[in-house]
Amino acid sequence: MKMSQMYSPTLKETPADAEVVSHQLMLRAGLMRKLGSGIYSHLPLGYKVIQKVEDIIREEMNKAGAQEVLLPALQPAELWKESNRWADYGPELMRLEDRHKRDFCLGPTHEEVITDLIKDEVRSYKDLPFNLYQIQTKFRDEIRPRFGVLRSREFIMKDAYSFNPDKESLDESYEKMYDSYVEIFDRCGLDFRTVVADNGPIGGTDSHEFMVLADSGEDTVVFCSECDYSANLELADSDIEFTTTDDKPQELEKVETPGADTIEDLAEFFNCSTKKLLKSLIYQTQDGYVLALVRGDYQLNEVKLRNFLGTAALEMAPAEELFNDTGIVTGFAGPVDIPDEVRVIADPSAMAVVNGVTGANEADYHYTNVNPERDFTVDAIVDIREIKEGEPCIDCGAELTMTRGIEVGQVFKLGTKYSDSMKATYIDDNGKSQSIFMGCYGIGVTRTVAAAIEQNHDDYGIIWPKSIAPYSVHIMQLGNDEEIKRVSEDLYTALNQTGLEALYDDRSERAGVKFNDADLIGCPIQVIIGKNSLEDNKLEIKLRQTDEKLKINADNPVPKIK
Ligand code: ATP
Ligand code: MG
Ligand code: MG
Ligand code: MG
Repeated sequence: MKMSQMYSPTLKETPADAEVVSHQLMLRAGLMRKLGSGIYSHLPLGYKVIQKVEDIIREEMNKAGAQEVLLPALQPAELWKESNRWADYGPELMRLEDRHKRDFCLGPTHEEVITDLIKDEVRSYKDLPFNLYQIQTKFRDEIRPRFGVLRSREFIMKDAYSFNPDKESLDESYEKMYDSYVEIFDRCGLDFRTVVADNGPIGGTDSHEFMVLADSGEDTVVFCSECDYSANLELADSDIEFTTTDDKPQELEKVETPGADTIEDLAEFFNCSTKKLLKSLIYQTQDGYVLALVRGDYQLNEVKLRNFLGTAALEMAPAEELFNDTGIVTGFAGPVDIPDEVRVIADPSAMAVVNGVTGANEADYHYTNVNPERDFTVDAIVDIREIKEGEPCIDCGAELTMTRGIEVGQVFKLGTKYSDSMKATYIDDNGKSQSIFMGCYGIGVTRTVAAAIEQNHDDYGIIWPKSIAPYSVHIMQLGNDEEIKRVSEDLYTALNQTGLEALYDDRSERAGVKFNDADLIGCPIQVIIGKNSLEDNKLEIKLRQTDEKLKINADNPVPKIK
């Protein structure tokens, strides 16, 4: 590509609202522009990088036997009602109405659509297993879009879904996807770790997240220095803004509850989803009551428990009192003397809870129609998942280390969650009807691009890993001398012919401008063609990553550049 013809507006100044390096550099290097909060247009250079990442993903998905499809972004509400997520997903779901007043959403993810797609056509065990994937724009009305495409409201995701006859087959698909992900992020040149994800009610090791290590990451991950233990603490934001309502505090409706044994029983009692129940949290009510949270059948170990409740809360009520055998909070309801600093223990996801249920797993200690802020004093928020550097690992006792990370991908074993609610079944080899087992596997494509920049930059700009660089070589023609022009043109043509894509700065700009732009854009190899070196029949090469400079003979330079 000749830069004189490329649409690539660069910026000298760092845009004021860009807090993290990747966001700043993506704007400055002319990779993207903002249209609205959390909405970005990708310009030629930026889109090229996106396509490189997509190509790597495609290759690895195909290699793993997954098949590419493209599903609608516009999705009828009926599907989401079938799975109960029309209610559960909360305000992050982008909802809209058509001219006939029918409800739709813009897909944040595609479990419903894909389950609906296959459920009437998969009949027998002979049709299974298979894996479908797509690369598509997703929509999420994030409460706080920020950091450019690291957390945007419209973003590109690769999502894959496996359909399996049983648990063992799902385990196999999961492992295959896990291995593919390792390959993909390796090939993208990223320094990443996998962590066991807190997978809500599914729990256990049924989900892993792929975390790119970077200080700007919103997640905090802990690793054991000795064993395999790892966890994503998903630290609660310390400055959560609660939406306040003008409503007066209300008399909460206290309900007689059975004190259920399982989270499902309790959810059924309240006629709501388990997820909603899981989001019920500890608050201090206006009359000084602490309502204990109900948390699902997590595989809770002490570290997680401490992450979740905070050390102070644990001291107040020992773990065994909080959790009964089934892993449900038995709770501490009623007036409890709580030190000021743990007055309110909240989770960012709590903001989604309006008209929620909260209470303890004990008869008569539940409230319904609970609204955070309206019904609770939310005047201090304590980081409930705090875990300290150097704490002993729960598995082996060695020291835990903490680091910040960016979640670029996640793999889940969904089991029969969606096939049950949406009735996706098959006939097994004994002629019996069974629910299909499902797995889902996501990669944030645009987030991966930004994460790569977070890890690969310096004061002058981006330093692209070779595999995802928009162009491999950046040719700088210094001056308009006929000989310089001819050598530059020839090199440009020759490189493109060998399949080494080149960016050619043929603009009539000063050398300084060209050098700065080349460092900013960050292609791995810079070739500088100027008067001084050409007189010695040489071209100058600079490697962006190491800043190493060398001269090569100007005759037949392509093999040397390769
Ligand atoms: P997060 O915890 O950061 O909100 P998530 O767990 O909600 O992400 P998933 O549902 O697991 O995201 O989606 C799969 C992938 O999509 C994520 O691993 C991430 O890379 C990407 N992703 C999710 N939300 C966003 C977003 N708002 N902007 C950009 N990429 C996103
Ligand atoms: Mg999210
Ligand atoms: Mg996450
Ligand atoms: Mg995730």
